[in-house]
Order: sequence, then structure tokens, then C-alpha cells
Amino acid sequence: MSATAANTYDIVILGGGSGGYACALRAAELGLSVALVEKGKLGGTCLHMGCIPTKALLHAAEVADTARDGAQFGVKTTFESVDMSGVNAYKDGVIGRLYKGLQGLVKSKSIEYVEGEGRLVAKNTVEVAGRQLVGKNVVLATGSYAKSLPGLDITGRIMTSEQALFLDFVPPRVVVLGGGVIGVEFASVFKSFGSEVTIIEALPRLVAAEDEAISKQLERSFRKRKINFKTGVKFSGVTQTGDVVSVSLESGEPIEADLLLVAVGRGPVTAGLGYEEAGVTVDRGFVLANERCQTNIEGIYAVGDIVPGLQLAHRGFAQGIFVAEQIAGLNPPVIDEMGIPRVTYCDPEIASIGYTETQAKAKFGEIETYDYNLGGNGKSQILATTGFIKLVRQKDGPVVGVHMIGARMGEQVGEAQLIYNWEALPSDVAQLIHAHPTQNEALGEAHLALAGKPLHAHA
Ligand SMILES: Cc1cc2nc3c(=O)[nH]c(=O)nc-3n(C[C@H](O)[C@H](O)[C@H](O)COP(=O)(O)OP(=O)(O)OC[C@H]3O[C@@H](n4cnc5c(N)ncnc54)[C@H](O)[C@@H]3O)c2cc1C
Repeated sequence: MSATAANTYDIVILGGGSGGYACALRAAELGLSVALVEKGKLGGTCLHMGCIPTKALLHAAEVADTARDGAQFGVKTTFESVDMSGVNAYKDGVIGRLYKGLQGLVKSKSIEYVEGEGRLVAKNTVEVAGRQLVGKNVVLATGSYAKSLPGLDITGRIMTSEQALFLDFVPPRVVVLGGGVIGVEFASVFKSFGSEVTIIEALPRLVAAEDEAISKQLERSFRKRKINFKTGVKFSGVTQTGDVVSVSLESGEPIEADLLLVAVGRGPVTAGLGYEEAGVTVDRGFVLANERCQTNIEGIYAVGDIVPGLQLAHRGFAQGIFVAEQIAGLNPPVIDEMGIPRVTYCDPEIASIGYTETQAKAKFGEIETYDYNLGGNGKSQILATTGFIKLVRQKDGPVVGVHMIGARMGEQVGEAQLIYNWEALPSDVAQLIHAHPTQNEALGEAHLALAGKPLHAHA
């Protein structure tokens, strides 16, 4: 299965982000001929404007907090200030090395990398600068952009994450509009860098997609960190005078700040790309695809943020790999959206998989839950973090949800996802030995308790 003629491929992929490039790499591994079209930088949002830069900022934030808090551990440290040029150099260094590696990887796989803006001009054809790339299959992977609200212009000190990643100063006062994943991560960074932060969230709680108990604990921790937040409150407008923004709320309350970060979600990049003209069903901008990532048009697939569901890089990777294998005839198993791990990297970190308590009740009827408090976990005490691991299981059945909050809990999601995806019973996990003293042990202890034999916990 290789290219039959110039500009004809087994797969033409539009968009070189997480979904698109993962598809290209796997397809090339499987011997398919591939053209990968990218108008910006290979790696897309995740590498250049999303996961990697934000996690670098969050790590710099952790370093700042460590410097502040040394005395707690008997170490004499002082926090002086955050030098944004240094932070950006560190962040850009990380991105640069990964970018170079990814470019090398794509080159080494004999993928035809086509730079430029592509458009679907027929069911099997993508056009880039007058050049027609014909695919036996076409994969749409054009990703997402930071949304704003109607009438809220992104300009000056009113920014989305796309501008906030390049700040060369630490704003003294920040209002974050939106208490979802991106909002709370930036709020956490700004607070650690020394800003006074207020989050505005219209829904009744922060990180509203998570289990309610997690939201409550995050709110408790943010209160302790003196990160202000207002939930159940609607934004009504903002004015900008020089470098000052005045945010008003429907409650009538004004908040003055030096930066308004708009973090109200991400919309699909699909407009004007020829999708609808080619007959692809699009709903509110999103491309609809079935569980095998097929659109309604035979031979056209869609992956990543343009498909409704979790907007996460590893979902994009998984869908990209899936589509390559599907096209190669490997009949890969369908991806369970609930089995995709979710991590929010604020301090404290949140990590979860599967169903929340409310979702599990609705889906399975009778359930049991158990909260293991990190207070009983040696390593968490050493790190001076608080939080818990909440397990949700079907009554007398497998674990269907794991919800964790506390420093570094993102690192625990690997085992949690095995537990969920392998439909483990609490007793299956209870017999596995978890190293002491690790935070991972807390996951073991939670299952010991749910299996009816608690160790460092009350039943
Ligand atoms: C601030 C922030 C933090 C995030 N943190 C995380 C995180 O920690 N973990 C996580 O899993 N996810 C995170 N995400 C989400 C993650 O970045 C996305 O889910 C992921 O990038 C989606 O991959 P994608 O391939 O669908 O789209 P994208 O990565 O957006 O890639 C789409 C690509 O298509 C290109 N393109 C678009 N139109 C065209 C065209 N017409 N022609 C050619 N090329 C085109 C774009 O230039 C882009 O490179 C974060 C996102 C943001 C914004």
C-alpha cells in the first residue's frame, strides 16, 4: 500500500497537532503513504500553546512556592521574584527540544510533510497553495481555538491562554474568567508568581466536570492559597483604560485588575475549510464522527478537538493511532471515552478516570464509594500535601471511577486508568503491593479499605 502517483496517498491528514501527527506516524509505521498538512507548527496546540508550555509554567510556579516555603522543611530559602524572561526561556527551551525531536521523527518516517493552509476541496482531496493532495482516505484534524464571549474582544490586557503564554511581566492583579481546567491552571500559576487572583465562574463550582467532592476540596485548597473565586456568578462586561481592566459582574460588583484572562473553553477549527461543502456533518462547528472516528462521508475521518468530547492531547493521539490502524485494516478496539485519564495540573493536582459519583449512580444504580484521606499517607505527609482519593464502584462490582486530588496526584493516574480499563474489583487491586512510602500507596490503601481490609485508614 504505497503512493501510486505523485500527490496521491493512502491518507491525507489535515492538521499536524496531536491527533494528526499521531495518525501520520502510526500510518507510516504500517506502510501506508501519508501526506500531513500543517499551516503552523508541527505539534499543534499541545506542544506550542497548550500542554507543554502551561506545564512548564506550572513547574516554575512550583519552584517559586518551594522557595517561599523552605522554612516549613527547615531549609532557609527566600523567594525574591519571578523573572519572566527566564521563565519563558526555560519554557521555550523545553518546547524547542521537543519540537526538534518531533520534526526529526516525522522526517524519519518518510511522511510527506506539506507546509501551508489546506482546504478540503472534494471528498478525497485537500488543496494546499494550489497543490492537490488526493487521499484514498482523508483525516480531518484541524484542532481548536480559544473562545471568547460575544462582544468580549481579545485585545490589550484582555487575553486568552494564547497571549498569556507569552507574558513578559507578572501582572499584580488578574481576573480569570472561567473556572475550568485552563482557568484553574493559570490561576494557580499567577498566584504562585505573586499575582492577586480572582476566578469568575458562572457554574456553581470550580472544575465542574469533576466529581463534586473534588471541586469542594479544590475550593478549600484555593481558599487556603488565597486564590479568590466567585462561583455561580456571571460576567457582564469589561472596560480597558490603559493597562487597567475593569470587570463587571451581573451582580453589579466591579473588579479592577491588570489582566483579564478569558478561559471560557475552546471551539473547533472547522469554519471555511470546505468540510460542509464536501457533505461532512458539522454540528455547532464540531465534526460528528462515530465510535470508529468515521464521519458520515465514507473515507473521511475526524480526530482530536474537532470531534465532540474530551479536548485532551492523549485522546487525540489515541484517535489518530486508531484511525491509522482502522485504515490499515487492523480493526482496533473502540476507544472508551470514559477510560481516558484526565489531569488538571493546578496546585493541588486533580486526576480522575471513569464516572463521577453522580454519573455512576445514574448509569449503574447501586454504587459504593470510599474516600481515602491523604493524611494517612506517609509520602503525602512528607510533601505536606492534603487531599484524598475517592473510589466509586458498582455495588459488588468493579471500580468505575477514581478521583484524586493532592500534590503530584497526576502521576497516579496511570494505575487508576488500568484499574478502570481492566474493570478491576477492589479486591484485585488490594492484593497488589504498593511501594512504601509513595503516594501510589494511597491508591493501594483506598482499595484495601474498599475491599474491607483497611490498613492505615478507618473502614
Ligand atoms: C492552555 C492549554 C493547556 C492544555 N493542557 C493540556 C494538558 O495538560 N493535557 C492535555 O491532554 N491536553 C491539554 N490541552 C489540550 C490539547 O492541547 C488539545 O486537546 C490537543 O492539542 C488537540 O489536538 P488536535 O490535534 O485535535 O488539535 P491541535 O493540537 O489544535 O492541532 C491542530 C493543528 O491543525 C492545524 N491546522 C488547522 N487548520 C489548518 C488548515 N486549514 N491547514 C493546515 N493546518 C491546519 C493547526 O495549525 C494545528 O497545528 C491544553 C490546551 C490548552 C489550550
